[in-house]
Amino acid sequence: MRLLEERIKKDGIIGEGNVLKVDSFLNHQMDIDLICKLADEFYRLYENNGVNKILTIEASGIGIAAIVAQRFGVPMVFAKKFKTKNLTGDIFTAKVESFTHGTVYDIMVSKKFLSEKDNVLIIDDFLAKGQALLGLTKIVKDSGAKIVGCGIVIEKAFQDGGKKIRDLGIRVESLARIKEMSAETGVVFFD
Ligand code: 5GP
Repeated sequence: MRLLEERIKKDGIIGEGNVLKVDSFLNHQMDIDLICKLADEFYRLYENNGVNKILTIEASGIGIAAIVAQRFGVPMVFAKKFKTKNLTGDIFTAKVESFTHGTVYDIMVSKKFLSEKDNVLIIDDFLAKGQALLGLTKIVKDSGAKIVGCGIVIEKAFQDGGKKIRDLGIRVESLARIKEMSAETGVVFFD
């Protein structure tokens, strides 16, 4: 998506360890007008697939997924990373290795909010090594729901996550695919 690529070139900051910082418009301060346009694009891609639920993972996926859910007119569920008093009863769980922190944590979704009746679109801000998506797809499969596909804002296509998920036969649509980026030069190339 040209608009998003231009914004990444303008405001994205390439950090060490293959991390792209987009916190001025996507996952800390959020440009809601831009995110509404991203949601329109996800809607265009998946509108005929009977999506009745959006699933994401806390924290940075939530804001984006909320706007996507509003566009589809369906509820959004986010997998929680911390067990709170509100999360009672039976839960679906999966283990996820964090790309940004390097730690392994559990993600949880209450069994109340996913079932075999659901057609789920998974939304996330980034796709890197695919661990977050693998965790979410496990939860959807455990629930008996159907995975319609994944909608990713930025896929770092030089990492292997996209291949891993597509090799499972899951549709992945990414609005910007980064082929190469360099912390030294600050240059980003798109697919
Ligand atoms: P994966 O599980 O695919 O390795 O990584 C996806 C998760 O890690 C995303 O939910 C995102 O929060 C975080 N992440 C991965 N790469 C980046 C990056 O380059 N920049 C930022 N800001 N987050 C990233």
